[in-house]
Amino acid sequence: MVEYFEPSRIDFVFETRCTDCNRLLTSSTATIMQDDSGKEFSLGPHCARKRIAPDREHLLKQIPNLTRAHIPISSDYPSINGHDGSEERPSFATREIERDCLEYVMLRQQKLSHFDQISWDVLDNVLREYNKQGQLTERSIKTVQSTISKNHGKRLGKRNLMTAYAFDILITKTLSKITKPDDKIWLTKQQDKLRKWGHLYPDTAAKVNNWLKNHLGERYALNYDGFF
Ligand SMILES: [Zn+2]
Repeated sequence: MVEYFEPSRIDFVFETRCTDCNRLLTSSTATIMQDDSGKEFSLGPHCARKRIAPDREHLLKQIPNLTRAHIPISSDYPSINGHDGSEERPSFATREIERDCLEYVMLRQQKLSHFDQISWDVLDNVLREYNKQGQLTERSIKTVQSTISKNHGKRLGKRNLMTAYAFDILITKTLSKITKPDDKIWLTKQQDKLRKWGHLYPDTAAKVNNWLKNHLGERYALNYDGFF
């Protein structure tokens, strides 16, 4: 009898093996799932499907995906521009809206909380409510939706935040692999800018993207035009 997990989100992982089959998660993304105690596990898409109760499998398509700025080599997960082609059942649209909101809240309150002026008390309450109840109230969804649309195409726009998150986490990973002091200084400077401004200018973003690919491999290509 398998112990079923609760799916939490799709997120970046590095040098991580799938909890169940022990295969290296070479796509650098994983489905993060939790057991009853809230402990998190990283699973590949195939094993994730086996860890969820059959009648809840649809949830795997409805969890926040924080890796959308990543250009996947395999098509396990849709990218920032992609559509996963899934059948849209009536209830799916509502869940998709909630997922959209959760992605936004997680980015601002958790993933980018160390950036300048990204976190916001109002969203913190929304996240607390979600962690307690496992879903968002209609009122919270409205609040988040209006925040998303107000910021569309701007620094606090979802696409920009998603891109900033991917860059930040991959820069940190690259810095751990760089040995030349001058290189380290340069890349650290770009990360400081990113955390201060919340974005990078196109020239810099393209350069940084090349660094990431050179140090981590082609599969870490990012959609660097995602900055607003
Ligand atoms: Zn596996």
